[in-house]
Amino acid sequence: MHRWEMKNIKLVIDLDNTLLDATTPHLKYYNQASGLNYTEEDVNDFYIYRLYNWNQEERDKVYNQYGYTIHGESIPYFQSIETLNQLFNQHHITIMTARPTQFQQVTIKWLENYGAKYHNLVFTESKYNEFRNIGADVLVDDAPHYAMEFSQKGTPVILFNQPYNNQINNSYIYRATNWKAVEEHINYLVDK
Ligand SMILES: [Mg+2]
Repeated sequence: MHRWEMKNIKLVIDLDNTLLDATTPHLKYYNQASGLNYTEEDVNDFYIYRLYNWNQEERDKVYNQYGYTIHGESIPYFQSIETLNQLFNQHHITIMTARPTQFQQVTIKWLENYGAKYHNLVFTESKYNEFRNIGADVLVDDAPHYAMEFSQKGTPVILFNQPYNNQINNSYIYRATNWKAVEEHINYLVDK
C-alpha cells in the first residue's frame, strides 16, 4: 500500500498512566491521606491503593475526596498530546477510561485544557465490550488485565510500559516506553 493511501483505523486510547502520569498525583494525595511517604519506586501494582493496605472501601473514601484534584492535576506524558493530535488527523480516536462518571467533567475539562483531539470519550470498566461495539482495531493501554484480555482474544494491544505490567507478554502485545514508540507501532499495524 502506498503511504498516501494509508488506511484509517479505529484506535481506543486509555488516559491514566497511558496519556498522562496518574502515579505522581495519586501518590501525592494518597500519602497526604495516610501520612505515609511512598514514591514512584515503590509502585509495583496497578492498584496503587494496595500499597497503603487499604481495602476497597477505604480506597473509595480517599478517592472520592481527592479524585477530582488527582485527575485535574495530572500531567500529560512527554509528546502524548502532540502524538494523539497527529493520530486524530488520520484515524478515529476513542478515549476510553475506567474512571467513574463522577469525574466526567474534570476529565473533559482536562482534555480541553491540554488541547487533546478525539472523536469519542467513553467511561467504562467493560473496555472489551465497548471496544467491540465501536468496531475498534487497536487498544493503547497500561493495565495488565486489559492487555491480557484483549491480546488473548487476538486484539493488538500497544502496552504503555509501567513497572506493574512488565510481566505481560504475548504476540499481540506491542510494548511502548514512550509516545514515539506508540506512533511507530500504530504505523506498523496500519501497514500490516
Ligand atoms: Mg490506565
